[in-house]
Amino acid sequence: MLINKLENKKPFIISGPCSAESEQQVLKTASAIKPIVDVFRAGIWKPRTKPNSFEGVGEKGLNWLKKVQYEFEIKVCTEVATPRHVEACLKSEIDMLWIGARTTVNPFYVDEIAQALKGHDIPIFIKNPTHPDINLWVGAFERLKKYGINNLIAVHRGFYNDTSSIFRNEPRWEKIIKFRKANPQIPIICDPSHISGNSKYVKDICQIAMDLDLDGLMIESHYDPKTALSDRQQQISPKNLIDIINGLILRSSELTDNNIISQLQSFRNVIDNYDMKILELLMRREDIIKQIANLKHLNGITVFQLKRWFEILETRKKKGQKLDLDENFVYEIFEIIHKYSILKQTKILQSLQLD
Ligand code: PEP
Ligand code: MN
Repeated sequence: MLINKLENKKPFIISGPCSAESEQQVLKTASAIKPIVDVFRAGIWKPRTKPNSFEGVGEKGLNWLKKVQYEFEIKVCTEVATPRHVEACLKSEIDMLWIGARTTVNPFYVDEIAQALKGHDIPIFIKNPTHPDINLWVGAFERLKKYGINNLIAVHRGFYNDTSSIFRNEPRWEKIIKFRKANPQIPIICDPSHISGNSKYVKDICQIAMDLDLDGLMIESHYDPKTALSDRQQQISPKNLIDIINGLILRSSELTDNNIISQLQSFRNVIDNYDMKILELLMRREDIIKQIANLKHLNGITVFQLKRWFEILETRKKKGQKLDLDENFVYEIFEIIHKYSILKQTKILQSLQLD
């Protein structure tokens, strides 16, 4: 993994305020969190949902980040959204950059940023787009790679959600697992601050990210959270940051102990056995589906019957409850089973009609 190669450290920690507000705020925060962070962050151009909120201090903030580099000897990073931002950061030798969620969503912006970065292989963090479309996110990586920018790290910052939730952005961890499986070579860190939207949930999100074996964390911290000019509710104090990081339970994803390997293996053997049985049952189920399709064909009955679908849902739900299985889990399984049953029957009916 690039980050581990870069710093040989896991979790890799990026922290700092949402926005650089003043030289004093930047230096005070950096000095307090320096012992625990690998990279200091602060946004100087802030993409805000509505105008008239604090939109960042602009280029003068680069000088404050330079001071952090020199006075505290730590690396610094900031957000870029336009080629002009990129040029200013490269000129100031900012160590790393991130592309924000509202920029990743637009392939035109990503392409322009990539062009401006050409020839400068500094680490670029790419936040997931607010829209939960993993392909759009992966597309941003591909666009940067096209211009020879290969030092790329993903940042999971949660996905837009308009249903009521305790979180500002839904974590949708299943999407992150999918991203990891499809892109095992891309390091990925978690931004618990923009997921939580509230300082009180930051710790739990950090722990989940570690348990899912993510490579690092980007956490917003401010020396005096209650005075923060942007994302106030989610800023945590340096003390809180240090406590959270020191309190993380770091589990290992590498198996080295032979005794544990063999215990795990015997559980996995049982699971393998169950999975083979599930497949055999699905095969037997499919045999019956073929006969049903035939019967429907001979008697002019539609493939899909809404009443039957509701009956399947209701009976499986009840049985699932009795077996103490998660309701959504049972629902999703039968949704897939039923979907493929309908597809199979449709195909069979089509071929019988051709006969
Ligand atoms: C930020 O990191 O302050 C930020 C604006 O993040 P995002 O692009 O994830 O909203
Ligand atoms: Mn922020």
